[in-house]
Amino acid sequence: MITGTTQLLGVIGSPIAHSLSPVMHNAAIQALGVDFVYLPFAIAPADLPDAIKGFAAIGLQGFSVTIPHKQAIMPLLAEISPVAQAIGAVNTVCWAETGWYGTNTDAEGFLAPLKQMNRTWNQTTAVVLGNGGAARAVVAGCAELGCAQIQVVGRNLEKLQAFDQSWQGSSFANQISVHTWEQLPQLLPQAGLVVNTTPIGMHPHEQSSPLAAAELQRLAADTIVYDLIYTPRPTLLLQQAQQQGATVIDGLEMLVQQGAVALQLWLRQPAPVEVMRQALLSHLASKVGVT
Ligand code: NAP
Repeated sequence: MITGTTQLLGVIGSPIAHSLSPVMHNAAIQALGVDFVYLPFAIAPADLPDAIKGFAAIGLQGFSVTIPHKQAIMPLLAEISPVAQAIGAVNTVCWAETGWYGTNTDAEGFLAPLKQMNRTWNQTTAVVLGNGGAARAVVAGCAELGCAQIQVVGRNLEKLQAFDQSWQGSSFANQISVHTWEQLPQLLPQAGLVVNTTPIGMHPHEQSSPLAAAELQRLAADTIVYDLIYTPRPTLLLQQAQQQGATVIDGLEMLVQQGAVALQLWLRQPAPVEVMRQALLSHLASKVGVT
């Protein structure tokens, strides 16, 4: 129940109506019985500085950040965590003594299902499809896992080079290399982990896949294929990879786990991960044509 003492959390983006974060976080808040509510805020890019000042004025405790604000918000914050600096984007903001503190929980969310696997990673080559925002968290995650090589595949040479350049100075810059899609046939047979960070295959384009069936046949039997997309579940990529005998992971767990890390920061208590997972699953199941 919302009362005079209820504290505010939320998510900012533009648009924001599609966000699943309110479903997941309000289910968790209810399960924990804490006096909080998590709201969606549609903030246009030009209004971002005013919105942040307004949030401080009304005493918001923290908020999630989604497209298009993940980078634009960085100069507006008092402090940014090393992981968010390395990724170059903030997805979680919390009110601290010094003002707004920004961090990024996407890499931790991405890693959660991989860390549960009984694998050694220091011999693993990761192939990352796409070089956008999510790819940055995936690269940071693969570096944390200790992957021997991280090969990033993109379609725009200029953007790829800028992506490569942006990691110079980090301790794992030497592990990263960038490649065009034409080079995939040479990269896939050595890959132990393939991660799709492009939107190819996402609803309503369920019939698309970033890898052709012939390319998938090049994968070694014990390859993990990880698609960050969570609608549909599974994507065509994961269906085909599974048929090839690969281990597959979809994006739902990353969504749940990045949210759980954020909630834990705001509430300073463990997040009810299973409640959050189930809230998302039942919400997605209720959406005709989305699951
Ligand atoms: P983004 O910043 O727009 O990056 C998308 C990347 O995909 C870019 O490198 C883009 O290439 C590439 N791309 C797009 N369409 C392509 C195509 N037809 N062929 C080849 N490359 C293509 O988006 P993002 O924020 O990284 O998100 C990417 C995906 O990850 C989305 O599906 C999103 O839902 C998912 N995601 C999931 C989670 C989760 O928690 N599970 C978290 C974050 C993101 P160009 O740069 O050349 O345009």
